[in-house]
Amino acid sequence: MIGEVEDDIYKTLLESTKAIPWKINWETKVFEYIGPQIEPLLGWRQDSWVTAQDWIDRIHEAEREQTAHNCIALSENGVDHEADYRALTADGEYVWVRDVVHVIRENGVTKALVGFIFDISERKQMEEELRIANKKLEQLSFQDGLTGVANRRLYDQTLEREWARALRNGTPISLIVIDIDHFKDYNDQCGHLQGDECLKLVANALQDVASRSTDFFGRYGGEEFVLLLPDTGREAARDIAERCRRKVIDLAIPHPASSVGNQLTISAGVASITPDEGVEPSSLFGMADRMLYQAKRNGRNRFACGWPQAMPSERSVGS
Ligand code: GH3
Ligand code: MG
Ligand code: MG
Repeated sequence: MIGEVEDDIYKTLLESTKAIPWKINWETKVFEYIGPQIEPLLGWRQDSWVTAQDWIDRIHEAEREQTAHNCIALSENGVDHEADYRALTADGEYVWVRDVVHVIRENGVTKALVGFIFDISERKQMEEELRIANKKLEQLSFQDGLTGVANRRLYDQTLEREWARALRNGTPISLIVIDIDHFKDYNDQCGHLQGDECLKLVANALQDVASRSTDFFGRYGGEEFVLLLPDTGREAARDIAERCRRKVIDLAIPHPASSVGNQLTISAGVASITPDEGVEPSSLFGMADRMLYQAKRNGRNRFACGWPQAMPSERSVGS
């Protein structure tokens, strides 16, 4: 009598928890019990869980083999374990669950498994949202807030990586540093907001001047942009610098205060190198920057080229 009362209490307790209890006879691989809570969770009737195979069949294909394999091996060896997997619902959807398994042994032989299935879909959903949010955050940390192009941080990382690659492969790498001419005057004349719009237009126009997947364009800071061209030699870098200059001319942004003409222009410094051991990546930027200021001194709306460890040669529009 007392035993029966106790059984009733246990049954009531088991069937009123959120976790779903179950028991499998290990010799026959038949379910001896599964809590009725399984039905509201997955939609399968309580009596549809007959053998362990029913359980395996209702695991998402992507996790099925691994989950079943682990569970069988650990159960055979008497090791308690748990597994997260997507369980198939009666209407063809999936619910993330955690199955916590306790192995019952007698004389070193596995006799039965008892366990609880927990609904972890909410947690998984939160994890997924967190993963997406983190990815977005990472993207944002490499993106310039105003123009939406890559920022200085990503440039630094990309240069490190591409420099190392060029060093390994003995291939050339080129850099174009671009600076808007008389941008301070543009701001003074047209206002900072208009200046911001102008930066967006220029960034957008220059973004796809170089088209290889390894080419990198970003905002270095202020009104300066960089174009890093891996596996690209001097002649190709020159051509691309000229394309950049023309691209901005084609935008035809009026700039009444410019000394160059009546529209917005850029100047650029081009440097190209095949890296050697002992040469720092910063030497490439240093040279491109010096060339930029040479182009400025020579009248703007032009580019100048220099090759680190070689005599710089100036080249202006039309020369
Ligand atoms: P140069 O032809 O010699 O390059 O002359 P410059 O006037 O372009 O160069 P300078 O370095 O004197 O001025 C750069 C200007 O760029 C000053 C600064 O206010 C402006 N600038 C930098 N970042 C931004 C920005 O995010 N928005 C706006 N509107 N202006 C910016
Ligand atoms: Mg500048
Ligand atoms: Mg400038």
